[in-house]
Amino acid sequence: MTDGPLHGATPGDDLFDAASLISAHDGAHAFEAVVPPIVQTSLFTFSSYDEMLSTYRGEKLRPVYSRGLNPTVRIFEEMLAKLEGAEDALGFASGMGAISGAVLPFVEPGDRIVAVRHLYPDAFRLFGTILKRMKVEVTYVDGRDEEAIEKAMPGAKLFYMESPTSWTMETHDIKALAAIARRHGAVSVIDNSWASPLFQQPIRLGVDLVVHSASKYLGGHSDVVAGVVAGPKHLVDRLRGESLPYLGAKLSPFDAWLLIRGLRTLPIRMKAHERSALEIAKRLEALDVVADVQHPGLGNRLPAGLTGTSGLFSFIFREGVDIRAFCDRLSLFKLGVSWGGHESLIVPGEVVLQQKAQPNSAQTFGIDPRSIRLHVGLEGTEALWADIEEALAAATP
Ligand SMILES: *Cc1c(COP(=O)(O)O)cnc(C)c1O
Repeated sequence: MTDGPLHGATPGDDLFDAASLISAHDGAHAFEAVVPPIVQTSLFTFSSYDEMLSTYRGEKLRPVYSRGLNPTVRIFEEMLAKLEGAEDALGFASGMGAISGAVLPFVEPGDRIVAVRHLYPDAFRLFGTILKRMKVEVTYVDGRDEEAIEKAMPGAKLFYMESPTSWTMETHDIKALAAIARRHGAVSVIDNSWASPLFQQPIRLGVDLVVHSASKYLGGHSDVVAGVVAGPKHLVDRLRGESLPYLGAKLSPFDAWLLIRGLRTLPIRMKAHERSALEIAKRLEALDVVADVQHPGLGNRLPAGLTGTSGLFSFIFREGVDIRAFCDRLSLFKLGVSWGGHESLIVPGEVVLQQKAQPNSAQTFGIDPRSIRLHVGLEGTEALWADIEEALAAATP
């Protein structure tokens, strides 16, 4: 089986065909099920000594143990690879599992990474703890300053970026930055969680590896923590050979099944997030009590390579608005981290700045104490705006 709703992706010649594996024992079409089964098993048995031997010798590709290869997980990986325009992809147990899995195989003591500033805080902390102890140094640069990146790059093994960044929504010229990294022989990695492959496909812009927190838009229902890395076969194979077996943060079959379900509605959800968030951002921008709105869609045009905007953006309240009262009065927007689900969420910057976590360099995340990050969910623009107006009335004298 190479296509159809069960499969959801067309594998390349050298890709493992997960759907045919699932259907191998129950007829050509897996009972014609419109939804693929959850192959909820840790191990797979062999019918003979010879079959086991040829599998161990690498002459035959088939699942042995679910930390390596699981058919349900493989369906998700193939779907995601296709969406990102990548040759291959690997599912991880979380976005951080994907980030550490994408970075660790490419660095050793004495190496240096160049990263854009205002990274996702836990990626920053991975660099500042485990990588620091491994004697891997990280140079942070303003991703909008190509000259600074060009200057920082000689000798770097890896270039790590996020665009837009997940609090200040700073956008970068991904194509130009990926070209700089390539010229210097550095592997480039981008966190594409904010835009999702619907609105940005960094592989097509020259980036080597794309990582996602699939807990956000790919899952889309706030019911799964997962990650994925997509890229060319030779790089993904490095991860398959080292990160997955030895770091072990493998995506589970049930979580993969939830992600497959999430991906079915990704385009519809993303367009709804985009529409509502952009409208709310524009209305906020028009308010006297708002000093600034950080949303990539508010300028004249989107940065090259970004074809749409998601539901996550920030804005800054002027003095005089009681941020605590505003947050407590909201009813549709819930106080909560993460984003990408159906529900609207709010995070006040002044709370994040007091987070107890090491290293904590909240300033380097670019968080203004009077900033607010909103995730605009799917409840409907007018209902959400009414919620904001009511909360504002309670929070201003
Ligand atoms: C949430 C998030 C991550 C981490 O993903 P988990 O699935 O929570 O491990 C990484 N990058 C960005 C931009 C995120 O928002």
